[in-house]
Order: sequence, then C-alpha cells, then structure tokens
Amino acid sequence: MLSSKLPSVGMTIFTEMTNLANAHGAINLSQGFPEFDPHPLLQELVLKYMRAGRNQYAPMQGVVALREVIAQKARDLYGATYDPAAEITVTAGATEALFAAITAVVHPGDEVLILEPAYDCYIPMVRLSGGRPVFVPLNHPSYRVDWEAFRRKITPRTRLAILNFPHNPSGAILTPGDLAALAEVLRDTRILLLSDEVYEHIVFDGRTHSSLCTHPELRERSFVVSSFAKTYHATGWKVGYCLAPRPLSVEFQKVHQYLVFSVNAPVQHALAEFMQDASHAAGLAAHYQSLRDLLVERLAGSRFRPLACHGTFFLMLDYSAVSAEPDLAFARRLTREHRVAAIPPSVFHHDGADHRLLRLCFAKTPATLNEAAERLGRI
Ligand code: PMP
Ligand code: GLN
Repeated sequence: MLSSKLPSVGMTIFTEMTNLANAHGAINLSQGFPEFDPHPLLQELVLKYMRAGRNQYAPMQGVVALREVIAQKARDLYGATYDPAAEITVTAGATEALFAAITAVVHPGDEVLILEPAYDCYIPMVRLSGGRPVFVPLNHPSYRVDWEAFRRKITPRTRLAILNFPHNPSGAILTPGDLAALAEVLRDTRILLLSDEVYEHIVFDGRTHSSLCTHPELRERSFVVSSFAKTYHATGWKVGYCLAPRPLSVEFQKVHQYLVFSVNAPVQHALAEFMQDASHAAGLAAHYQSLRDLLVERLAGSRFRPLACHGTFFLMLDYSAVSAEPDLAFARRLTREHRVAAIPPSVFHHDGADHRLLRLCFAKTPATLNEAAERLGRI
C-alpha cells in the first residue's frame, strides 16, 4: 500500500478559500495575487522574445542577461556582490528556490528553525528531506523576532533557519538591528539561513527592506530568495531566483538542475530587458501603500480593527469585536454570508494558534477594496 510522505497535508488554504470565494461569488481577498496585469511593455517584451525564437531551453542557471541584471540590482539596492556566473540561479518561482535550498542542505534528523506564523510550504518541504521543524513564535501582535527565544531553540542538530521578511501574513519587517542580533546569535555556529524575501520591494512609510545580503556575515551563510511574481504583477509566470555564495549555490544548482533544469526562456529574456529600468520596482511601495491606506481608511467605521502593516500586500484584521468564532469557521462564514473571502492565519501555526485575525490581500483595485470594506462595515 501507498505510505504517504505527507500524511497530514491536504488542499492548501489558498486553494480552499479561492474555491469557496468563486462558489459564492465573493470578493476574493484571500489568496495573494494582484488584480492588475503586468506592465504592457513587459507583456510586449515576452511576445517579442517568443517571436525572436527564444523558445528553447534556457541555460540551467538562468539566462545570462537576467543573472547580470539581478547582480546589478543586488549591488545597487543592497551593496551586495554576487557573481552572475556562479552565485545566482533563476528558478521556477520562489517556491522552487525554497524547495531546492532546503533539499540541498537538510539531512534526515536535522533541525530547522521556523518563525511562526509561517508561510505554508516551509514545513512540508523540511519534512520531505527528513528534517525536523522547530518553531519559534513571533511576538504577537508586533510579529517582531525575540532573538533570545530564537537562541534558546538552537541545538547541535540545528542546520537551517528560515526567515521571511517582509512577513506574510503580518507585514512585519526586519531592521538593521535585527540583522546584527541574528549575526551575533549565529556567530559561533554552522547554521545556514534561508531568507524568503519575495516582498522585498513592498515596504511602507519611508522604511527600507533589510535584506540578509546587506550584512556581510549573514550573506556568507544565506540563500536569499525572491520572485518576480509580486514585483511585476505576474504570479502566474512562476519565475524567481536565489542568491547564494558559491559553495551554497553549487549544492543548490545540483538540486535545481534535476528539479526543473531551467526556467521559462522568453519570460527571462523579457525580464532582463524590462529590469534595465529600475523605476518599475521602485514605484511599487508607493502603489501598495496607497491601497493599504485606502483599505484602512474605509474600515475605520467598522468593527474590524487593522493591525500595523509595514510591508507586503496583506493586512491583518482583528475581528474579536464581531465574533468569538475560531478564525477558520469565521473566514468560511464571512465568505458564504457576507461574500468577502480572507485567509484565517491560524493555518500558519503548527498548533493552530488563533488570535481572532483575518489576513486580507489588498493587491486589488480601489473599487474592489471599497466594495469589500463596505460589506465588512455592514457586519
Ligand atoms: N513565499 C512567500 C512568503 C509567498 O507569499 C509566496 C507566494 N506569494 C511565495 C513564497 C511563492 O512565490 P512564487 O509564486 O514566486 O513561487
Ligand atoms: N503566496 C500566496 C499567498 O500567500 C499564495 C500562493 C499559493 O496559492 N500557493 O496568498
């Protein structure tokens, strides 16, 4: 008989809530994807490279021009140097990069530190490699890291720590002080880091993203993962990348080359040309900040209380003044009865910790957000 490697895994919450939203004609603020299309020029460029015959396998590590423009970006934004010939890999979305990094370094019995709430794919990926997730709770409701609590979870078996800032679902970000604290905690260890930075360009209120690659000591032990999905409104294209120093990239690429070998060629060429103009990514934070502000403002008269949101395109709402139901039951009922779909964040906790919150995606048009806020305001 078949013996499942992931016996407790079912359909993801993103699929469940999107299906429920569609079944009830609800406004879907659950699964995180933009309601806008990629820039017309970027779409034109994909077509241009398809017509120019760039339709066969790209190099295993990624199209050279794209790796070069990613290296340039890491230098300009973070002051970090990565050799495009050896230290950058273009991947099938951030998801493949996360899987490849975990598979490359986690051996059976290794412990992997995971900050909770945690994006849904980390735990199953660790388990598939025979690793043991060890959970470090983020402080509620600030979702900042308690570095002493983090230190206490380290054992001789700790192999990897997974970080995700700007943080899904809370929007929390790291400061340079956090990076210094992390470097200090890890200084005499051989622990590696996997940093999921897919929301790197979406940080608000004049703050800046503290990438792990900005810190020279952390850079040496980190896989830094990002994605073009959020930056260019193209979640369906599934193209991302991983930055890692040479010895880590060597092991990463051993997995990548047998997982997918290489990634969508015309999209890579198009991104390489489009990214020559850095203003597209630079304007993203202002775009999303205005949508966050609109949603917060429209919810002001309601019984839902927004938590602070410093980045990403997610807003957490405290609904404890509306209902005492657990978040999953409340999210399902909200979709069915009030036709607004959201994510119940308890699913991002291994023990189902429930703070009576909902995660709303505000990567939507003002009209959609207005309508959703109006429906929530009536409850
Ligand atoms: N990490 C986080 C934190 C995410 O929110 C997402 C999805 N939006 C991903 C990874 C997956 O990114 P991709 O679609 O590029 O695989
Ligand atoms: N990252 C998206 C979110 O957090 C969902 C991606 C998916 O559906 N797997 O909503």
